Amino acid sequence: MAKAYINARIWRSDAEAFLIEDHRFVQIGDNRTITEAVKDGEVIDLKGAFVTPGFIDSHMHLAYYGYYLSTVPLGGCMSAAEIIQALNAKKEEMVTGQVLQGMGYNESAFTNGPKAITRADLDSVSAEIPIVLTRHCGHIACVNTKVLEMCGIDAGTSIEGGEIDYENGLLKENAMRPMLDTLGHANAAEFEEYIVQGMRALNAYGITSCGSDDFLLRSDSYRMPLDIFLRLSYQGRMTVRVNEQCEFRTPEDLASFLDEGYTTGVGNEYFSIGPLKIIADGSLGGRTAKMSAPYADDPTTTGTVDIDEEKMDIMVGLANRYNMPAITHAIGDGAVDQVLRVYRKYLLPGNPLGYGLVHCQIMRPDQTQEAIDSQLNCYIQSLFVDSDAAILKERVKPELAETSYPWKTLYENTNTSNGSDAPVEIPDALRGIYFAVTRTSLMSGDRMNQAECLTVDQALESYTEKGAKAFGMDDVIGRIAEDYYADFTVMDTDITQCPVEDILKAKIIRTVVGGEDVYCD
Ligand SMILES: [Zn+2]
Repeated sequence: MAKAYINARIWRSDAEAFLIEDHRFVQIGDNRTITEAVKDGEVIDLKGAFVTPGFIDSHMHLAYYGYYLSTVPLGGCMSAAEIIQALNAKKEEMVTGQVLQGMGYNESAFTNGPKAITRADLDSVSAEIPIVLTRHCGHIACVNTKVLEMCGIDAGTSIEGGEIDYENGLLKENAMRPMLDTLGHANAAEFEEYIVQGMRALNAYGITSCGSDDFLLRSDSYRMPLDIFLRLSYQGRMTVRVNEQCEFRTPEDLASFLDEGYTTGVGNEYFSIGPLKIIADGSLGGRTAKMSAPYADDPTTTGTVDIDEEKMDIMVGLANRYNMPAITHAIGDGAVDQVLRVYRKYLLPGNPLGYGLVHCQIMRPDQTQEAIDSQLNCYIQSLFVDSDAAILKERVKPELAETSYPWKTLYENTNTSNGSDAPVEIPDALRGIYFAVTRTSLMSGDRMNQAECLTVDQALESYTEKGAKAFGMDDVIGRIAEDYYADFTVMDTDITQCPVEDILKAKIIRTVVGGEDVYCD
């Protein structure tokens, strides 16, 4: 049945109404034309609310975000004592055999006591229950002694591509693997629940599509996530369109995936295979981002490389043969150097396959220029400004800080899409727009180079049509236009006209995917 939405204030359009049929926009126009065209279909009066294309979060971890929602949230904890208190409260309701999981802590933001959480703190909560806290960057875990014992980690253990601080119970980068393997992965029912809960939460933030990296978090191979996504999409149970950013542990896993006929573009309108995803380094907060020079606030380290260049080259080369481009997490300029060196071997002029750089944080001008010359897809996360603006000043020298997070330069010269990297950040797109526009931390008041601020319109594009372009889906999503899927977001405020602070107060009142309501306030 046709549906008419009238009295809408549509972003960048004089039209005030649109008609939806068979999950797509079929006509855009004035109230009268659309009301007549709907005949005996339903008419929905939006009463002047602001309407944009559905928000697209171009890089996140959907299933892991759903999982995050089921753990003890530690993002708001401002001291080790607060974390201990939250864990003690959760401990009471646990059954034997369960692992006490907390996520999202950020010791660099602590305002009380030492800026650290340690094994001893967790041992004070329990010596019997395994406790795992994942840092908000997702690249570091703090565990209690029980977990170290279960994983067979002692003071002498070392792991390639990872770092173990045995004394403090900190497992960094690849050193998290034994813990993830020992404590088990989700079963299919749990994994499905993560996806469903994650999508529901995204819908409340106005998100209708996402680029998501799910194969290796709470799962050890692509098999289970792929089966579940395909089944949910065939059953009509997807409320967010997912473009999967496919991560593999080994070249052999990637080869068997490709062998089965999967490659970029395979899938259906709700779940599609996106690019190969590679993680080249860690995080700025954890000082595991790979720099070309030692950290300004810790001259003993330049960070960690998560994948050596040879292995990366093998994987990128293999995928490239199947027209599957790579997108790579690279936060430090040292990691960006490695990524650019590998990409140079495979990139075609104009980057038709869609190779990409995820995060675009610590960058030198020569690297920004190469990203532009190569027309790399740039995946930024403006929400990072809140916690990164303060630490950027500490971690790198001022001249490098100035050329880092060069988002407007990239935006104006490449396809630059926005996202949250959830659960690293809460996937609140309106908040993301605020940070893209202000580049000012609400937490610390610190500002990043103000010449690189986006306008509200650009920030909105980074969350809509640029995401669609990154997924190669710009002919079906990212715009309110005839023949496009009817994905849109309705807000109570025209964020292009209000004072910038009011963007944070704007409310999502309705989210629609394929013409169906997936969220209503
Ligand atoms: Zn990520």
